[in-house]
Amino acid sequence: MKVYNFAAGPAMLPVEVMQKAQQEFSAYQDSGSGIMELSHRGKYFKPVIERAVANVRQLMKLDDDQEVIFVQGGASMQFAMIPMNLLNGGTADYVDTGVWSNKAAKEARLFGTVNVAASSRETKYDHIPARSEWKLTPGAAYMHITSNNTIAGTQYQQLPTAPAGVPLIADMSSDIMSRVFDAGKFDLIYAGAQKNLGPSGLALVIIRKSLAERTSDRVPTMLRYSTYIDEGSMFNTPPTFGIYMLALVTDYFIARGGVAALEEVNNAKAAELYDFLDSSSFFKSTVAKADRSRMNVVFRTPTDELDAEFIAEAKNNGLMELKGHRLVGGCRASIYNAMPIEGVRALIEFMKKFETAHK
Ligand SMILES: *Cc1c(COP(=O)(O)O)cnc(C)c1O
Repeated sequence: MKVYNFAAGPAMLPVEVMQKAQQEFSAYQDSGSGIMELSHRGKYFKPVIERAVANVRQLMKLDDDQEVIFVQGGASMQFAMIPMNLLNGGTADYVDTGVWSNKAAKEARLFGTVNVAASSRETKYDHIPARSEWKLTPGAAYMHITSNNTIAGTQYQQLPTAPAGVPLIADMSSDIMSRVFDAGKFDLIYAGAQKNLGPSGLALVIIRKSLAERTSDRVPTMLRYSTYIDEGSMFNTPPTFGIYMLALVTDYFIARGGVAALEEVNNAKAAELYDFLDSSSFFKSTVAKADRSRMNVVFRTPTDELDAEFIAEAKNNGLMELKGHRLVGGCRASIYNAMPIEGVRALIEFMKKFETAHK
């Protein structure tokens, strides 16, 4: 039976990438060693990290002032590292569109004042508050958004801009490299790798050199952005496996035609699934139509019992990990870059059968 994995993260990786990693794991090129046995500063690994950086630059069309660095601790470490480096007793604006935004804001309060510019918490994060309603702080240290809300299933269709002079920061963990956007408008972008880019534990961070210069002298070396920029992410031994996998995944993205080509497939996948949800009188999407995520499709059957039955039966049919996040319940299909359209079609076919059997 063909199995499709709809997990939210760690999530599916391209099969071709896993097969290549499997080969190179025990025998890397002509080194006589496996890739994980080789020095991070040696002649074999150095080109890997350089390729990872170059791939990110190419795929996201970064400008010269934007640095690509790799930091351990996933996206959650960035929740703390951002205010530790950039807030310094000031005020930052956070747009609260879900659990992850909320967690990011919580860490920032340790280093300064957080202004929650807007929040959809009262309606269980079922939409993204309209930009016209945000209450921003003049001269804020930065403005922070979460581009795709993995748990709630919402996504900015148009990415916002910040007021002039205010650095724009985005957590793009669950939609990075899934669509074309102008990365040059952002001063800091970060993403835990385990949704679209590779294994967990690694964060990709894209930061403007000029922004990293703000950090106070009191921030520890390992937690300063400038350390990663100055040392090429190798102040200490970097997470070599994560970086290696990210290089392979981004090679694969480039071979597929880059972000625009990925976006086209992602749009088609999401459109087919939402069209089915809209046509169904049994399954329904639970988020505002205008803000629907193309990465995490959250939906429900008529009852909690049927949700559970659906998830269990889907699993028996090779459609794995469709349970919604424990905080929202229901069902969720995560359809990141690595999910082929055939997986989405298999899911829709199964949903149709389940609907007919249970209506
Ligand atoms: C998964 C996720 C995180 C947390 O990532 P970790 O690597 O587990 O810290 C943060 N933000 C968003 C939007 C996510 O999807």
